[in-house]
Amino acid sequence: MNPFKTIQDIHDAFDAGKTNPVELTHFYFSQIDKSNHNAFITLCKERALKQAEVLAADLKGKHQGLTPRTAQPLYGIPLGIKDVLTMDGVRTTCGSKILDNYIPPYTATAVQKLENAGAISVGKLNMDEFAMGSSNENSAYGNVLHPTHPDRVPGGSSGGSGAAVAAKLCVAALGTDTGGSIRLPASFCGIVGMKPTYGRISRYGQIAFASSLDQIGPMTNSVEDAALLCQVMSGSDIYDSTSSSEPVQDWVKVVRDTKASVSTAPALSAKGLRVGVPQEYFIDGIDAEVKNAIEAMIQKLKQNGAEIIPVSLPHTENAVATYYVVAVSEASSNLSRYDGVRFGVRPKAAMEAGSLTEFYKKVRSNFGAEVKRRIILGTFALSSGYAEAYYHRASQVRRLMRNDFENAFKQVDVMVSPVSPTTAFKLGEKAKNPLQMYLTDIFTIPASMAGLPAMSVPIAKDRLGLSIGMHLIAPRFNESILFKAGALVESFGGDQS
Ligand code: GLN
Repeated sequence: MNPFKTIQDIHDAFDAGKTNPVELTHFYFSQIDKSNHNAFITLCKERALKQAEVLAADLKGKHQGLTPRTAQPLYGIPLGIKDVLTMDGVRTTCGSKILDNYIPPYTATAVQKLENAGAISVGKLNMDEFAMGSSNENSAYGNVLHPTHPDRVPGGSSGGSGAAVAAKLCVAALGTDTGGSIRLPASFCGIVGMKPTYGRISRYGQIAFASSLDQIGPMTNSVEDAALLCQVMSGSDIYDSTSSSEPVQDWVKVVRDTKASVSTAPALSAKGLRVGVPQEYFIDGIDAEVKNAIEAMIQKLKQNGAEIIPVSLPHTENAVATYYVVAVSEASSNLSRYDGVRFGVRPKAAMEAGSLTEFYKKVRSNFGAEVKRRIILGTFALSSGYAEAYYHRASQVRRLMRNDFENAFKQVDVMVSPVSPTTAFKLGEKAKNPLQMYLTDIFTIPASMAGLPAMSVPIAKDRLGLSIGMHLIAPRFNESILFKAGALVESFGGDQS
């Protein structure tokens, strides 16, 4: 049994002298060894223990005269890293055979910032190949099992991150979200998953899928931990020109203040918060238990002072279709670098190829079926004569979707919806039907298309014990309101573990 759920739990144990970073790191590796979720692709035990030893030495006060590392916000915290993020000297596959032997020479800014704050990276987490998928069944390294229901999927594409945090194989993890890949697995696995505003966190070292949508974010067991990780990772970065210099707030304080107001005067804690309920998100086909849980939480927000306001996002019905034009187009361009010359494995068969085309074929046949499907679709959508009809038109509709949100946010502070129409589905249930799989992300995609911050918070369980998440969406760069609303929902939902 792992007694640690949150970062605070671990820091309390350090303070009480119950454990130290080295012992704790060993303990987490023993938990990983015992687990059968297939959550990790690569472990970095030696590297992690080295980090831990330096930190443990500080704990003993050996490094006299230096700023004590014990004051670092993530001191000694075991962290899992989605395998889409590079780490200097650590194998990074992106869930693909084409990067099976790739050892990057640099570390992603987000990972570096967390390690600078004292976090210990325990390993690289399993994921759908190139982050393309909703169930983690597209990984070249085998699917990940749901943390509590092994016949079900953990959600994707950050399925390894979702399962590892829920099964307490690490305290927190990084995921990436292009159309829902943090929020969906968080919801399916019963943890908190947060996608910041596009540009909040540097994408340097994030292997690109769809560059105008991709975003790194935290997956944790509490809203406060998500706030802390987000706070540490945010900020502009000279290595990513799309990263924003918008000021970073103290989101941990926002969460703590909100929680304090819930414990002192619960009935007033949500007072003044205008909560939008997008009508287009309550469609036929939502599982009744999911719908009931969301409606019950909306009622709780109302009982505690929030104002509930119906809003309309009229272009929602175009979201999935336009996303799949934009995402596959950008993917086809980004993935052209895996040609066996610049990046990508160069198998023996490729070296024996008689022509350049044959060489490329032998290299690129290492992509899995879903990735190939998207490269073909994207190449078509960007080809001469079609780019106007598809990519450019989809970009125009995307602008309309963003306008929808801007209009609605004139009336409300935050919006709520289900994360997905269903709870975690069975392994294989949707694998043969890409269209049905694509619809899993129907509620998460619009916020991605508009670049908005959004979060999944566990609020209930269905009759099978599967977690139901509430989806919260906030205006651009207003992570403060998102964390406040998230903290309220988490408090009203009670302990979901
Ligand atoms: N499921 C969506 C897709 O397959 C989203 C993936 C993601 O957010 N990385 O593209």
